[in-house]
Parts: sequence; structure tokens; C-alpha cells
Amino acid sequence: MAILPFRFCPRCGVELGEGGRCPRCGERMVPRTVPAVGMAVVESGRILLVRRRWEPMVGHWALPAGFIEGHESPVATARREVAEETGLLVRPVGLLGAFPGGGPAGRVLLLVYRGVVEGGRLLAGDDASEAGFFSLDRPPDPLAWGPHREILARLREAAPARPGRPGRPGRPAPSA
Ligand SMILES: [Zn+2]
Repeated sequence: MAILPFRFCPRCGVELGEGGRCPRCGERMVPRTVPAVGMAVVESGRILLVRRRWEPMVGHWALPAGFIEGHESPVATARREVAEETGLLVRPVGLLGAFPGGGPAGRVLLLVYRGVVEGGRLLAGDDASEAGFFSLDRPPDPLAWGPHREILARLREAAPARPGRPGRPGRPAPSA
């Protein structure tokens, strides 16, 4: 995902001039903010985190998250990423917030949904080398870049997400 400043016009292929303006088509190519979507799953005061398998920030702990692919909705992105990276099927139950400042250039805007586990089996996969539930108060080290500390602080203050529909018992927390 290219989020660093452009040097050439992606449309015309010519080198950009002053202020990132293309001398041929006149378009200004400024570094843009790219939305990504993550999932916050908290069960009994423990948060679902994955360990990044690849650079950047390899080995750092982060929410299951990723970029929107094709025309999928942000909710679909959240469900897909958490399934790919943790094996768990999670139902989004609301938007926690939009957190800027992520990614290697600080230009990723992370939309974070809260979710409850509906099924699946905890197993690290795809871009994650490990996955598990960790204490919100004592998250593992090192945490990934950007807004992760702010997100965890927000989750500590927030009321727990409601598990299941009325009359349906919540699932027990899978062990890490
Ligand atoms: Zn151009």
C-alpha cells in the first residue's frame, strides 16, 4: 500500500513539479491518508491482539487490522481481517472510533470496530505470527505504532461490549 509521497504522476508518469503538481495534467499529488479497519475484541478485560509477521513493525503487537480491499464495506474488512489473522469469527457491534496517526508514515486512519466472538478457533494466520487475548491493563510489549495506546485507554474506559443477542449466552473467552 503506497502511502509515501509521490515522485511521479501516477496518471502521466512524469516527474512532479513544485508542490507535487504534475506539469502535464496539472493534478496535485499530495500524500494522502489511507483508511484501514481494525477490530477490538475484549472479553473479561482481555483484548485480542496479533503479533505482526512482516515489516514494518515486525514482532510488534497490534489489533487485527488491514486495508479495505476492492469495494468491501469497512465492516466486511474488519470481519475478514480478524478471521484471517486470528481464526475467530467476530460480529461487529459498533464503531469505537477513528484514530489517525498509524502506519509507517503516520498517514493511516484506523477505524476501529468493537466486536464479539461468534465462532471459529483461535489460531494465528496470514499476517500474524501469534494471536491471543491479553490484559487490557498490561498489554504485551512492544505495542505497534500510532494510536494503539490511545485505543487501549479508550477501551479501558468503555463499558464492555454486549455479548450475543438477548437470551443468547456469550461465549467464554478463548485462552491464548
Ligand atoms: Zn499527470
